[in-house]
Amino acid sequence: MENDESLIENNHVMELTSINNESVFCRSCGKSIKRDAEICPYCGVRQTATQKKNPGLAAIASFFFSGLGQIYNGEIGKGFFLIGVQIINVFLMVIFIGFITFPLVWVYGVYDAYKTAERLNSM
Ligand SMILES: [Zn+2]
Repeated sequence: MENDESLIENNHVMELTSINNESVFCRSCGKSIKRDAEICPYCGVRQTATQKKNPGLAAIASFFFSGLGQIYNGEIGKGFFLIGVQIINVFLMVIFIGFITFPLVWVYGVYDAYKTAERLNSM
């Protein structure tokens, strides 16, 4: 009997949700909020799950290729900038400066990818 009742209740909620396309129910407090709302104005709970970044994976990506971890973190511009800088550094190896600048940028890329992923997760 109890199961039947909850089933009816669920159907009722689903009906309400589908009737009013403009609003959904807060996943925390259950109040009717706008479908587009990222954060419930009543209880302040975020509705859309934030994409979590893996700091280790970001660092590994930048370990193998400078800028890759940044692209993984969604920092596309920074990623391509680092790739460009490293291409220049490879050419600078001809005059030996590249042997100093390349590892520096490489270390920065790995460190920055890790820290940025951590920062994105804490947001
Ligand atoms: Zn709420």
